[in-house]
Formats: sequence, C-alpha cells, structure tokens
Amino acid sequence: MRHSQRIGGLTGGGSDGWDVFLKARAMIAEGMPVTELTIGEHDIRTAAPILQEMHRSALSGHTGYAAVPGTMDLRETVAARLTERTGVPTTADNVLITPGGQAGLFAAHMAACDPGDTGLYVDPYYATYPGTLRAAGAVPRAIRTRAEDAFLPSEAALRSAAKGARSLLINTPNNPTGVVYDTGTLQMIADVCTDEDLWLISDEVYDTQIWQGAHQSPRALPGMAERTLVVGSMSKSHAMTGSRCGWVVGPEATIARLITLATHTTYGVPGFIQDASAFALQQGAQFEAEIAAPFRRRNARAAEILAGQNTVGLVPAQGAMYLMLDVRATGMTGEAFAYDLLEAERIAVMPGESFGASAAGHIRVAMTVEDAAFEAALGRLVAHAERLAA
Ligand code: PMP
Repeated sequence: MRHSQRIGGLTGGGSDGWDVFLKARAMIAEGMPVTELTIGEHDIRTAAPILQEMHRSALSGHTGYAAVPGTMDLRETVAARLTERTGVPTTADNVLITPGGQAGLFAAHMAACDPGDTGLYVDPYYATYPGTLRAAGAVPRAIRTRAEDAFLPSEAALRSAAKGARSLLINTPNNPTGVVYDTGTLQMIADVCTDEDLWLISDEVYDTQIWQGAHQSPRALPGMAERTLVVGSMSKSHAMTGSRCGWVVGPEATIARLITLATHTTYGVPGFIQDASAFALQQGAQFEAEIAAPFRRRNARAAEILAGQNTVGLVPAQGAMYLMLDVRATGMTGEAFAYDLLEAERIAVMPGESFGASAAGHIRVAMTVEDAAFEAALGRLVAHAERLAA
C-alpha cells in the first residue's frame, strides 16, 4: 500500500549522526563498558513520593478517561506556577495538558500553521523539530547560527527568514547547546515576531535548569502573550520523562481550539499521571533545584576541567543538561570525532551535526552520568582530542 507523503517524508532522511548512538547501544548490548553521554535523561529516577502519589491516585480510582484539557487541579497548578515565575496572569483556561512536551510542540504548530506554511526554527535544534513541523503540515525552515555568537540567532538572519513565515520556534535554555538566551536577544525575537506577525513557539522544557540568573519567558515581554505558545514539561524539571506529561500555555482562544485537537488525537493524559504531576509541581522550586543540582555541579566541574587546555572549546553553557564542545582543532567533523571517541575510549557522545549544520565540528555531551564517571570521561575526552590535534 502507498503511504502518505506526510508520513513518508517526516524526517529528512539520510544519516543524521544517530548511527553513533545506535553503535554505542549495540556495544553496550554486547557487554562492553561504554560511558553514555548521549540522551537527555537524568541518572536518577522519578522520586518515590511522586510515584506514591501516582499509586494512591490510581488505587483511588483515577484510572478512567480523564478530562481531555487536563484535570482542573493540574491546569491550575501549572497556571499558578507560570503566573508566579513570569508575572503574566495565567489561568487554567490558558493551559492544555499534553502527553509530554513533544505532543505540545506538535499541538502548538497545529494551532499556528496551515499546511504549506513556513515554520522557522533555530539551528542547532532539538532533533525532533523539523519532523514535528512537517507532521503538523508546516514547511520547516532553519535559521543558521554561529558558534562564535554562542549559537544565538542574529537579527539579520531572523528578519530575512521571517518574510512570509507563520511561526518561529525557539528553545531556551537550549538543547543541544546549553545556551540561555539573554534579554536583548529575546526582545529582538519578540520585535521580529511582532513586525512580521509570527507566532512565537517557546520551548521552555529546561526552565528549571539555569546556572546563572533566572529563566526569562518571552511570553512575559510586552505584547507577546497574545502571540506566544509556551511548551512545558514534567520530564526534565521533575525527572518524569517516562510519565509523558507536559503542556501548552497560550491565549484562551487558542487553548480552546487545541482542546478540540486533543479530543481528536490524544484524548488526554492519564488521571493518575496528572495527579502525580500536580503533586510534584506543588513541591515547589526547592525540589526542582534538587533535581537540577547534579547538572549544575557537573557544568561547573566541566568548566574547570576545560579551563586547563585549549584544544576543546566550550560554548558558554548557562543551562540545560548538556555541553556543546568545539572539536574543530582536531581537524575532524563532530561525527568522525564521536566515532573515534567511541572506538578508542568507549565514550559515547552525539555529533553536533545531528542537531543541524550550524553545530558542525562540535559534539554534544549530556551530563547524565554520576559525577566521578562524568569527570573521568571528560578528562579522557580532552586527552583524546589533544592527541588527535598534536
Ligand atoms: N524540547 C526539548 C528541547 C527537549 O530536549 C525535549 C526532550 N529531550 C522535549 C522538548 C520533549 O520532552 P518531553 O516530550 O519528554 O516533554
């Protein structure tokens, strides 16, 4: 049978650097000791009290269909958290609960783009972005950035790409770079969106992982709440990746339409997962800081380890669970370096190229193994790069 072009063309096709990841997984399956610094997942599991709440909720009967927009308790909890942290008055009517941030990204683009509309995103990007835009019928257009500019989009590049586009997807703190957008950049982005009448889709799933300053949501900038759709998630802030619980926050009229979309696609998120998520959010910022603490610690240690050499460049990472390292001094592509590192040192990292052409000659290191193993792996990575560069 013939498949739709939409499903057949979802990914761009070709090698995208995930081969290194698959090879590492195959080596592990064969029993080889590989240090995996690839996927963005915590080295701790969901905290026991959250699981106990999930269990309590399920046993008390919250196992039937849950309210499609999300439970009132969770929507109100998410709304209160955003109001408190961004200053933008937000109510349950501004919140749709989704099965993870990923479903939120899809829903946001469904709301913003008609089939064939251009949706912009910043390169380097989280791996699913172009495919998510295509799944929603949009035509993805990358905005290239430069390592020398900390991978921040330039106003010139943004303005020229924005002509005729419908939406712009940004992500701060950023996966894969760890970069946090400064106020000036966010204001420039807001100005372009206003001038060109774009939706801003703001992926803020790493909002609790900031090592300097505080998270700034572009939805809080003047005039932006009406054209911004914020995507959030329990995955990173509460180590709940497998629970698949996230949200879209936006104007009431948009959320009303997205509830209709949810009715016809996901039909909501399990009630016991939502109860556990509301409970987890109600633990407050201190709990979230504890979940983020290992990455904060490892980020600081990485800066110390990398300060002692000048072969491997560190993109200033002020947030998220990743480091983007410049390995161009070895004369290799990110992909070749990642393969070589896996073979020689049994350390698995992601080639920068798998996150877009702008990250060529870089590798992404996920800080997702315990401190001593992380520090040892980083030290060996640097030594390996130094040997290659010599
Ligand atoms: N956005 C970014 C930038 C991510 O890194 C991820 C997960 N790695 C997601 C969205 C989606 O996360 P989830 O669906 O687990 O909420």
